[in-house]
Amino acid sequence: MKYLDEYRDGPAAEKLLRQIRAAVARPWVVMEVCGSQTHTLLRYGIDRMLPEEITLVHGPGCPVCVTPVEAIDQAVALAGCPEVIFVSYGDMLRVPGSGKDLLSVKAEGGDVRMVYSPLDAVKMARQNPGRKVVFFAIGFETTAPANAMAVALAHRQGLENFFVLTSHVLVPPAVELIAASPDNRVQGFLAPGHVCTVTGYRDYEPIVRRWRVPIVVTGFEPLDLLQGVLMLVTQLEEGRHEVENQYARSVRREGNRQARNVMAEVFEVADHKWRGIGLIPRSGLRLREAYARFDAARVFGVEGLTSQEAEVCISGLVLQGVKKPPECPAFGADCTPEHPLGAPMVSAEGACAAYYAYRRA
Ligand code: SF4
Repeated sequence: MKYLDEYRDGPAAEKLLRQIRAAVARPWVVMEVCGSQTHTLLRYGIDRMLPEEITLVHGPGCPVCVTPVEAIDQAVALAGCPEVIFVSYGDMLRVPGSGKDLLSVKAEGGDVRMVYSPLDAVKMARQNPGRKVVFFAIGFETTAPANAMAVALAHRQGLENFFVLTSHVLVPPAVELIAASPDNRVQGFLAPGHVCTVTGYRDYEPIVRRWRVPIVVTGFEPLDLLQGVLMLVTQLEEGRHEVENQYARSVRREGNRQARNVMAEVFEVADHKWRGIGLIPRSGLRLREAYARFDAARVFGVEGLTSQEAEVCISGLVLQGVKKPPECPAFGADCTPEHPLGAPMVSAEGACAAYYAYRRA
């Protein structure tokens, strides 16, 4: 634990807080893009320790939260097929679709299984030649390389009973959507370090130039976030707008070339619908035509499904930093982790779940 402890050191945190207080002269609205960053900020009480000039708002970087309700409904439909073994990461099981969630399908007898790696799903397909294994491939650029590898592996092994239901999203187009919005109040972004470990941060450079907002690529431990806030506030106070890299121990400007290559081999960029937000041009990944035979939505004919989101849920506004979870009328009343109405209350990275867990109502 020594490595992590170093990034949670109290005196070092106090020193960074003093530097932030000294640097801030005016009010600033700062968005941490990633849900894991939100959870660290609230868990360690950093949101309460920062000077009152700094307002933190929470971004769309929660993969479970932004998976469109149509994709959940497609997953529910596929999981109910008797010939299908439906395989998913655990945190997708309780995300409500327009009717039910995957856990309910499992309770009704559907063969829904949880894995930690898409390669386990490929193995499952090899071990069950008489069944059709569908893997729910969701997430940002962090999970896309491993999911692409699973498809490439199944392709090489000639597996005919392995499929993926994809809902992959890309961070930079969502950041640009927020920066470009006429309602935008975010003046600087803490970009997610793990995504940039894969992609690098070149994609943010045109965004800072076009919208004159600073972006600091930031890690997930308390000291990472405090240092990220300090770097961001320093830029804001000095009137600069650049991409800076706080997470240099993991992130290079060009990212991880091997991971990017496998993603580019299997996926291509496409328009994508985000839950609560809507369609964002060129913000998702879909399987290339060469891998179309693995596309579960196409093979099982659930492509055109349209669904309705819960009307009361304001997750789209929460995910764009326009509102905070307690401003939702359902927060903590009709919507709780036990009975979630929206994905941000279910996910371990969801802002609503963080506010509920750390009592920020
Ligand atoms: S509290 Fe529940 S209903 Fe409200 S925005 Fe969050 S997830 Fe949606």
